[in-house]
Amino acid sequence: MVKEELNPFEIAKQQIERVGKHLKLDPGLLEILKSPQRELSVNFPVRMDDGKIRVFNGYRVQFNGALGPYKGGIRYHPQVNLDEVRALSCWMTWKTSLMGLPYGGSKGGVICDPKKMSKAELERMTRRYTTAISTIIGPEQDIPAPDVYTDGQTMAWIMDTYSMNRGYSVPGVVTGKPLAIGGSKGRDEATSRGVVYTTREAAKKIKLNLKGATVAIMGYGNVGWFAAKIFHDEYGCKIVAVSDSKGGIYSEKGFDPKEVKDHKEKTGSVVGFPGTNKISNEALLELKVDVLVPAALENVITAENASRINAKIVAEGANGPTTPAADEIMHKKGIVDIPDILANGGGVTVSYFEWVQNLQHFFWTLDEVRQKLDQIITTAFNNVWEVREQEKVDMRMAAYIVAVKRVVEAYRLRGIFP
Ligand code: GLU
Repeated sequence: MVKEELNPFEIAKQQIERVGKHLKLDPGLLEILKSPQRELSVNFPVRMDDGKIRVFNGYRVQFNGALGPYKGGIRYHPQVNLDEVRALSCWMTWKTSLMGLPYGGSKGGVICDPKKMSKAELERMTRRYTTAISTIIGPEQDIPAPDVYTDGQTMAWIMDTYSMNRGYSVPGVVTGKPLAIGGSKGRDEATSRGVVYTTREAAKKIKLNLKGATVAIMGYGNVGWFAAKIFHDEYGCKIVAVSDSKGGIYSEKGFDPKEVKDHKEKTGSVVGFPGTNKISNEALLELKVDVLVPAALENVITAENASRINAKIVAEGANGPTTPAADEIMHKKGIVDIPDILANGGGVTVSYFEWVQNLQHFFWTLDEVRQKLDQIITTAFNNVWEVREQEKVDMRMAAYIVAVKRVVEAYRLRGIFP
């Protein structure tokens, strides 16, 4: 057996090639769509709490800006590398296009282990990284947001650092900010709400009643937790398994996600929550459930385990959780896999709302945010479903067809400079 390609950027390029072939795109255009437009790699010193200096490596990749300013999160993780950031920025390009937002795609990351750093160290690292990338970010150029292990506080430091250097407050430079400094209502839950809304639409298509439906969620960070809460509180689903980097918990009877969150806050993990059995992250993925939400990192559903995935619907809360080989296997099994660029597009959609509110200095109610998000992501879902039916392709391919077509149209209209 040939070893499966797990480099996320190679996977991202394969996905483009696949859709390029389907759409019979011009080879030159395909080359454009596979190439990151700008890559900034930065090495910068930070003074640690013990007085020693450490040099950190970070990146910002602006993949494609045909549709508007670049948009995408910043990730803090020990496994960050340039190819991962390239892939994530590429996926942002298709995600913003699919959602119909006036944005290109970008992503940033710093190689670090935030769990082993103090808050003061994280602040100094964030401010110095912001300074290092400040020449290429801005409300009209490139707007960062949270991603894995970054949050509202991180965005507040970025906004402040950028603003201090300009001499006035520039809230529109990042999204995912706390409410008090220009954040939007509903941004914290937005990615998960998108996951739930797209799952709701998929459930309608396959005639699955969400009330009482069983749900397993891999990852209990921002996305995993809010997804569990919304599935449970608003749709009456039974959350039977969740996990984090330390392992997972399972209970056939289901549990209250809020109690699990409190337990995680107290003990540092979901593991050990009373009334549940411990299971591994790998075993969680293979549970017989109605809905499976991978909401952690890339490449967790691969050629190796895809045949053992037992869910009716997989909703990709994470970016890149499924490899192309796994896609094919799941499609053949009849699993409805809602791809990342669709399932988790709610985050960047409400980021867009936040940016619009910042530019207009006019703020919306939570109901408005939720309604507009529902409208945008449900429309995107239906567009993808229609293409899936018409062209008899899997969901990811259908999503890529819609997303890539819009970018291609932008190139057709804008032309190639000069
Ligand atoms: N990091 C999130 C994502 O992967 C959000 C990006 C954004 O809001 O700009 O979609």
